[in-house]
Amino acid sequence: MPRIPDTDLQRLKEEISVQRLVEASGVALRKGGKDFTGKCPFHADDTASLVITPHKNLWHCFGCQIGGGPIDWVIKARGVSFRHAVELLKEELAGSASVPSLAADAVPVKRSTVRALPAPVALDADDHALLAQTLDYYHQRLKESPEALAYLKTRGLDPALHPTLIDTFRLGVADRTPGLRLPEKNRKDGAAIRERLQKIGLIRESGHEHFNGSLVVPVFDAAGNIAEAYGRKLRDDLRPGTPKHLYLPGPHAGVFNLVGVVAAGQCLEGERDVILCEALIDALTFWCAGFQNVTSSYGIEGFTAEILAAFKAHGIERVLIAYDRDEAGERAAEKLAAQLIGEGLEVLRVVFPKGMDANEYARKMSPAAQALALVLRQARWMGSGRPAPVESIQAEPVDATRPEARPSLAARTGAPGAAPAPTARLADDNPGDLPGELPDELRMPTGACEWRIRAWKKIPRLRPCA
Ligand SMILES: [Zn+2]
Repeated sequence: MPRIPDTDLQRLKEEISVQRLVEASGVALRKGGKDFTGKCPFHADDTASLVITPHKNLWHCFGCQIGGGPIDWVIKARGVSFRHAVELLKEELAGSASVPSLAADAVPVKRSTVRALPAPVALDADDHALLAQTLDYYHQRLKESPEALAYLKTRGLDPALHPTLIDTFRLGVADRTPGLRLPEKNRKDGAAIRERLQKIGLIRESGHEHFNGSLVVPVFDAAGNIAEAYGRKLRDDLRPGTPKHLYLPGPHAGVFNLVGVVAAGQCLEGERDVILCEALIDALTFWCAGFQNVTSSYGIEGFTAEILAAFKAHGIERVLIAYDRDEAGERAAEKLAAQLIGEGLEVLRVVFPKGMDANEYARKMSPAAQALALVLRQARWMGSGRPAPVESIQAEPVDATRPEARPSLAARTGAPGAAPAPTARLADDNPGDLPGELPDELRMPTGACEWRIRAWKKIPRLRPCA
């Protein structure tokens, strides 16, 4: 479960008045010097043992020998968990509807079973709506989650640089809070909604949230319904064996960024290209760099009949396989290329430096958009339009000093039919045989071979490879 950021806790401790919370719980306070006193609601108190110290924003009961700040008060007064108390106070801070519910709870209870936070889903929604509402809730949570926003930034998907990214793909974060907002499982409606969420795959048999602690990326079908969801754990320091990549249970459905595939199919003949990644994060990387004609398999074994059908239905001519440049990625790309060629498509392999995936490559190169444009322009041709035996497809490593650039392959940005972006011209100066190091040359050593890249107008900064 994502940790609650210290800054959030600090804000709650400073900005929510303990005095007001105590009064809202029905305790009459009397001023005595700098402090306020009142009868403690947690024990039979005839002597006004409860003391509030406003300038420190603390409370203390001399009878119970307990005290603390606003969060501790809510835990005690409402009988909720720490996390639940934080959620309640955050809502209060945001000025939302739960404020009166805090005040209304004048009589303290040992353990609250009535959840005061609004449920993230309508309890009577059908399965489609339930899935949509949950992912919508995740989407809202991500916008307020410093941890999730920071994660996107570390993956080179910085929301500050790509302000439409989060809304376009309705990215979300699963942070365990839906459970706090559903009716308790010991109540009839609480049990019923949990059972239904479990059936959809959002809650596991253990009761845990399926995508807990993950960035959540929905995949929509042509009608705009959620067909699939992908989760990527925000943290890498997980218990051994914890999967970092998750999907909804059952077979994969839907085509990621179908809008981009449709738009690619509407381009001029000869330009109907789609970039096919092996992971959704890689596809988002291309998208952020301006390549909207991108989609993704669900892992290297996850190219589905539905994706192929979408390529065919929308007139895609050429597929640029941008799977990871590792052994598994290479093998999967070869196999997939044979299948796609057999289906009448032209196939090219996007060749990243050895061992890299699209996301890592984009993060290590700067500017990422131009670096991605370069590998697209230098994609290796694997075959086209007619059935080809697998043996004929060669898997030679390609280095950038001998790019097999395809001049006609344009990297497209923006609306369908728009002029190619300036980045698409990058590889027009085919360096051919380089005489030696040139003044404008970039060298990028990666394992066995070295990339020598020329013709960048400006290289402000190149982060070294790790
Ligand atoms: Zn007390």
